[in-house]
Amino acid sequence: MTVARTLRSATALVHAGLIAPERLPALERVAARYAVAITPEMAELIDPANADDPIARQFLPHEAELTQTAVETGDPIGDLTHSPVEGVVHRYPDRVLLKPTHTCAVYCRFCFRREMVGPEGLANLTPAQLDAAFAYVASHPEIWEVIVTGGDPLVLSPRRLRDLAERLAAIDHVKVVRFHTRVPVVDPGAVTDEMVAALKVPGKAVYVALHANHARELTPAARAACARIIDAGIPMLSQTVLLRGVNDDPDALGGLMRAFVETRIRPYYLHHGDHAPGTGHLRTTVDEGRALMRAIRGRFSGLCQPTYVLDIPDGHGKVPIGPDYLASAGEVEDPNGGAHAYPPVAKP
Ligand SMILES: *Cc1c(COP(=O)(O)O)cnc(C)c1O
Ligand code: SF4
Repeated sequence: MTVARTLRSATALVHAGLIAPERLPALERVAARYAVAITPEMAELIDPANADDPIARQFLPHEAELTQTAVETGDPIGDLTHSPVEGVVHRYPDRVLLKPTHTCAVYCRFCFRREMVGPEGLANLTPAQLDAAFAYVASHPEIWEVIVTGGDPLVLSPRRLRDLAERLAAIDHVKVVRFHTRVPVVDPGAVTDEMVAALKVPGKAVYVALHANHARELTPAARAACARIIDAGIPMLSQTVLLRGVNDDPDALGGLMRAFVETRIRPYYLHHGDHAPGTGHLRTTVDEGRALMRAIRGRFSGLCQPTYVLDIPDGHGKVPIGPDYLASAGEVEDPNGGAHAYPPVAKP
């Protein structure tokens, strides 16, 4: 199947043969509540014959999204309470999120900011809001790192990215700039040499963190887009959301981590699913996540081990949630589950 442009409605998905026509009324209700967008690259990866396709689960709207449980909220990790000015989230003293745009190239069905992202309303910060955001960063010398996120900042034009880079370069106390994006995977053609040049912030260490959740997303085109970034001297990290039916078995998770490492991307975080509205069907339990992490520890290279983190609801911050191998005093567990005394007991 060839898809010419990004699919942005339930009707377009029916026409592309990705969802059955009888599901249209319910999925139009889903699309009215949460934005839909699937790029040609991702649409073409979906196997319509497989009802449980891991790419489809991430991007195709589903009836289960209409079910919101009592613990799910539109601001699951408390961004709003830590936002001193529009477009800035300042939760940890030494780093801020800067969100220049609310739009993304795709809309993920599990997005923790799903009530805040989408094509509606003001897509980008206004010039005045951007001025206020930079004024905030400039007036807080404790800010060592700026994490440019959104939305997805790589949907911005190279000209806008260059403008951001120049303004960040002018702030002495900012030493590190990190871009969080899904674009190299979902729209690899957008990662042009001009865009890569625009990401280089003069005088600062720049990192790009790539969000991907299944090895199949790392297509040859996506790997080539990442290589353009890395060959320009920008190291890359990974971010993955633990998702039921996408990466919640050891082969899928380990395979994804290997795909990152083969692409020279260092696995960074595996995020436990946040309580975003209508995402219960994609969330695992923490016990399942810890069991998965144990399963990949022995079997896959140390380079393939992300840190499993939970963003504590209401903005209390991210913490690693194990598993831990030094659980009880005097004992350590090996990768196969065997228990050993530690420190070692003296042999007679
Ligand atoms: C996740 C997050 C960060 C980045 O956290 P790291 O652990 O440094 O990757 C920074 N600020 C906010 C508000 C966040 O949610
Ligand atoms: S790309 Fe990121 S911000 Fe955009 S919908 Fe997906 S998870 Fe949310």
